[in-house]
Amino acid sequence: MHTIETMTQMGHERVCFHQDTESGLKAIIAVHSTKLGNALGGTRRWHYASEDDALYDVLRLSQGMSYKSACAGLPMGGAKSVVLLPEPNWAPTEAEARAMGRFVDTLNGVYIAAEDVGTSIQYIDWMAQETNHVKGGETACDGGDPSPWTAKGTFNGMKACLHYAGQGDDFTGLRVAIQGMGHVGMYLAELLHDAGASLVVSDINTARVEEACSRFGAESVGVDDILATPCDILAPCALGAVIGPAQIEALQTNILCGAANNILVNPDRDAAALADSGVLYGPDFVVNAGGVIHLAGLYLGYTIDDLQERNDAIEHTTAQILSDADGGSTYDAAIALAKARIESGNPLQESCHAS
Ligand code: NAD
Repeated sequence: MHTIETMTQMGHERVCFHQDTESGLKAIIAVHSTKLGNALGGTRRWHYASEDDALYDVLRLSQGMSYKSACAGLPMGGAKSVVLLPEPNWAPTEAEARAMGRFVDTLNGVYIAAEDVGTSIQYIDWMAQETNHVKGGETACDGGDPSPWTAKGTFNGMKACLHYAGQGDDFTGLRVAIQGMGHVGMYLAELLHDAGASLVVSDINTARVEEACSRFGAESVGVDDILATPCDILAPCALGAVIGPAQIEALQTNILCGAANNILVNPDRDAAALADSGVLYGPDFVVNAGGVIHLAGLYLGYTIDDLQERNDAIEHTTAQILSDADGGSTYDAAIALAKARIESGNPLQESCHAS
């Protein structure tokens, strides 16, 4: 059972529950930290087994957003929201989304909503009918699909990993394996192909695999084989929790760097095991921050040039984290950097070792 004590232990500032009887909306917004600024985070629609599961999910996800925004060097905190669906795959309605928009509006900009699992650009535009504090729509607010920016940030993170591994940052002739050819995976494949890499791809959706094979000359492998395929870089871009002890033992790569959120089953344990096995891991919440940088940057009024520069800075931040880790867990080093930035109130603090 998660109570105000859990919130205290995890360091949350505020957790708000809301219901709208007319549309049936039941939702929670969790604001983890505003130490660095107002907080942007997605709105997830999900059918949870219990209310307690929903609460824990929003507490965990909002804390993760604080660390992601801090590592991205944004003057933004961390928050997230969940809509509790009465049944799996409950269809989204305009009434529900607008009620959610009104709920978001009650926080007066402390929380800025965006797309997440179960929501869409349309849902965001519906929310934006009721509040200015939402990003990622196409008609009632701006931002659109952040996937190209996420892919570019992941590519930048890969460059830092290559550099740290002493391989320069030239992708020519490198073999890169991508799990998941969805929005981010396809854009990432395009960037890697243009940079001269050869690609190995996998997806449960065969049409996406065929598209990558015909556009980029990619080789396809089965969904059960992609994580153990021999390659220079492995990029999980589908689901979370795909790399645990069994997968680490089977890895045939020196670099693990992908866009999927929460790639590791147990980050504390698995990041240490990766370091022990000599696999360089670019922490997912650092390298996949291109999307949040894009949406938060638009909210903050950054120009397109600023956004590009901040996306490119993912390479520098990843390099800093790899160096701070010094052969140990890069996940721990990333969390330490995020915490140091939040504590100091300086989102651009260079290293967790700085005072
Ligand atoms: P998406 O739904 O467009 O793509 C996911 C793809 O993975 C789909 O094509 C799906 O068929 C495929 N897939 C599912 N199960 C698979 C399996 N077992 N093996 C191989 N492929 C499988 O999602 P997306 O927007 O491309 O996001 C990909 C990942 O990156 C997600 O984990 C997401 O949370 C994370 N992420 C995305 C963004 C963004 O800007 N879209 C930002 C940060 C993090």
